[in-house]
Amino acid sequence: MLTEQERYMREALALAREAAAAGEVPVGCVIVREGEIVGRGRNRREEKQATASHAEMEAIAQANRRLGTWRLDDCELYVTLEPCPMCAGAILNARVRRVWYGARDEAMGACGGVTNLFMEQFPNRPALVGGVLAEECRTVLADFFASLRRDR
Ligand SMILES: [Zn+2]
Repeated sequence: MLTEQERYMREALALAREAAAAGEVPVGCVIVREGEIVGRGRNRREEKQATASHAEMEAIAQANRRLGTWRLDDCELYVTLEPCPMCAGAILNARVRRVWYGARDEAMGACGGVTNLFMEQFPNRPALVGGVLAEECRTVLADFFASLRRDR
């Protein structure tokens, strides 16, 4: 039996796999409000050649459009990889209530991997839970980088 959190992380993982199939570093994100997914995003940095096209940014933008508000204080965000400083900043600005992430990011993580922006004295800091389906989230990334090495 999957928990509710694992079910949403599976949705984010499906988006991560879609990114991998498109040649993007596989990161996926969903935003949930009252049991409904209101935003989905995946990494599109290569497709758009845009620095800011991370999964979380895309999911937040979609939730903004869908809900007609920049305030996501009744939303929870699920992402397969620990958010970077840019995305953690957007999450703070959106006032997201809770963040669930899968794999830790020792290179760019801003939720414990390198630093933790959610421990700083910002208003509206989200609750944070790491390690949701962590093994599966790590494997998606590891498989992608292994296939890149094979193709080189
Ligand atoms: Zn990011």
